[in-house]
Amino acid sequence: CGIVGILGTRPVAAQIVDALKRLEYRGYDSAGVATLESGRLTRRRAEGKLRNLEVLLSEAPLRGAIGIGHTRWATHGRPNETNAHPHATERLAVVHNGIIENFRELREELTAKGRVFATETDSEVVAHLVTDLMDEGKAPIDAVAAALPRLKGAFALAFLFAGDDDLLIGARRGAPLAVGHGDGEMFLGSDALALAPFTDEITYLEDGDWVVLRHNGASFRNEAGQIVARQKQKTAASA
Ligand code: GLU
Repeated sequence: CGIVGILGTRPVAAQIVDALKRLEYRGYDSAGVATLESGRLTRRRAEGKLRNLEVLLSEAPLRGAIGIGHTRWATHGRPNETNAHPHATERLAVVHNGIIENFRELREELTAKGRVFATETDSEVVAHLVTDLMDEGKAPIDAVAAALPRLKGAFALAFLFAGDDDLLIGARRGAPLAVGHGDGEMFLGSDALALAPFTDEITYLEDGDWVVLRHNGASFRNEAGQIVARQKQKTAASA
C-alpha cells in the first residue's frame, strides 16, 4: 500500500522505515525492506506493525546504501511474512501497490518455464516475469520495458537489481508514485509526504510513466517507452 525507494550513499534501511511510517495513514498489515549489500540482495519482512520490522532490523541490520521498502495491504494472499513485500528472485527485488489482474495466466506461463513461486500474491509474478526476461539476456531496463506492457491492472512498482548499486526503477499505472531529487541521492515514494524528510524537489510520474534512477539523476519514460521530460516541483514545506 506504500512504497519507498532510496538510492543513497549510507545505509538506508532506517530511513526507508521512517518514510514508510509517514505512509501508515494508508493502512497496512505487514511491511518489508530490501537492500543491496556488496551487490547481494538482502531483505527483512514482518507481519503487523512497522515496529515489528524495526525490531527485526535491530537484531539483524541491513547495511545496503540502496534499497526499497513496502507496507502491504493484502489483496491476494494472506497477510503473513511470506506474502509480505519485497518479493525477490536471484536477480531482483520488487515492491508493488495495487493489483495485477492477469497474474494467474502469467504465473502459469512462468511456472511452465520452470520459475518457482514462493508466495500466494499477485505481485510475485512481476518479479518472475522480469527475471525471466533477464534470463533471456535482457538488461534490467530492457527487461522492465518488455514486462510492463504484459501487466494488466493497477500498479506502482519499485525494482532493485542484484549487482547494480546505481539503479532503481519505478513505474506507475493507476497508482501514484513520485520521484524525490536529492544531492547525489534519489528517492521514490507513493507520495511527496513520504519523501518530505529527504527533499523538497519532487517529480510526479504521469500515469503509464516509468523512471530509471541513478545517483546522478532520473530518466523518465512514457508508456510507449519514449524518453520524456517531467517537471520538478518544489513542495511547500519539508518536515
Ligand atoms: N496486491 C498486492 C498484494 O496483495 C499489493 C497490495 C498492496 O497494494 O499493498 O500483495
